[in-house]
Amino acid sequence: MESIFEILNKNDFNRCNIVTLLKSKSDESKLILDKARAVKLANVGSKVYYRGLIEFSNICLKDCYYCGIRRSNKNTNRYEIDADNILKAAKFAHENRYASIVLQAGERTDNVFVEKVNKLLKEIKKISNGELGITISLGEQSEEVFKRWFDSGAHRFLLRIETSNRELYSKIHPNNNIHNFDKRLEMLQSLQNIGYQTGTGVMVGLPFQTYEDLADDLLYFKKFNIDMVGMGPYIEHTETPLYQHRQKLLPAKERFNLTIKMNAILRIMMKDINIAAATALQSIDPLGREKALKFGANVIMPNITPTIHRKEYQLYENKPCIDEGADDCMGCLEARIGLAGDTVAYGEWGDSKHFFERQKKK
Ligand code: SAH
Ligand code: SF4
Repeated sequence: MESIFEILNKNDFNRCNIVTLLKSKSDESKLILDKARAVKLANVGSKVYYRGLIEFSNICLKDCYYCGIRRSNKNTNRYEIDADNILKAAKFAHENRYASIVLQAGERTDNVFVEKVNKLLKEIKKISNGELGITISLGEQSEEVFKRWFDSGAHRFLLRIETSNRELYSKIHPNNNIHNFDKRLEMLQSLQNIGYQTGTGVMVGLPFQTYEDLADDLLYFKKFNIDMVGMGPYIEHTETPLYQHRQKLLPAKERFNLTIKMNAILRIMMKDINIAAATALQSIDPLGREKALKFGANVIMPNITPTIHRKEYQLYENKPCIDEGADDCMGCLEARIGLAGDTVAYGEWGDSKHFFERQKKK
């Protein structure tokens, strides 16, 4: 079997190589993390780009088995932030030179919702003189809606495939028309075709997930030619069906380490993409996101959702920062990023370099 050292000297990793890297123990893992840091510095530098995250509603028509705001969870207060308060949060981001925001919510496809988002996109562009970049993370929509939102000013879209293993997908979702693996992949393709900078991701440490599945996830991102990736640890939530499988999980710390390694290996495999340090990392380790930044990630999504709603947007339990206001987090986040050896790129969009390379080759 090839050693970690030999694998890291190759130009391309196959499935078996990635599994070996993922299974490596601490000293060897350090080689992977150091290489990821070097690849990151050489290709995307030490700048970290902010995307102010606005979680504007926890109303969701879907029933994903892992998620705390799934439709069937009756023990959650549903909320939807009105347009004025969303615009206020966007203004906060603009005034503090965040350069970009992410609009995220549970999934809805009704006209009222689609129109609200459409209007918001135009307003946000207007109040920021076109300076705020907008990423959308609002689940599956028709191609027409994707296109309309693109034309109204959104230029990046995040749609995690959650896992590249069809069978695993069917174990963590209901099996019906609105939770369909093939449809999810088709949607990602359609986002790329429309011209979005396209982002996806998976959860790491799901029950039933194998090292081979995780290797396939990374190979899928590469094959798809993805521009942006966010990968966070799966964190159990008591009010969800997957909770019954909690005995099958790796301990939280191991899920955390595996996620850091997944991010690091991906950086080595895809040198010029944007990788977001997932918020869920911070639920396991207070410095979790900064560790991901150190070893490959280059984007972070500070939460700027109005504080009163944060406790209701609990996709998973132990969600960080739910008592803090946007401003409380700012100084300390910048300092922690500094400690990780990186600097915040205020006022810069920090678009995925890979996206532009992909456009050139078209
Ligand atoms: N409704 C949209 C956006 C919000 S959910 C969508 O599903 O695309 C955003 C992400 O949160 C999901 O893609 C999923 O990967 C993550 N998530 C949900 N439940 C989680 C859990 N229990 N642990 C970790 N991540 C979770
Ligand atoms: Fe809804 Fe997204 Fe949660 Fe699934 S993961 S239940 S689509 S919010």
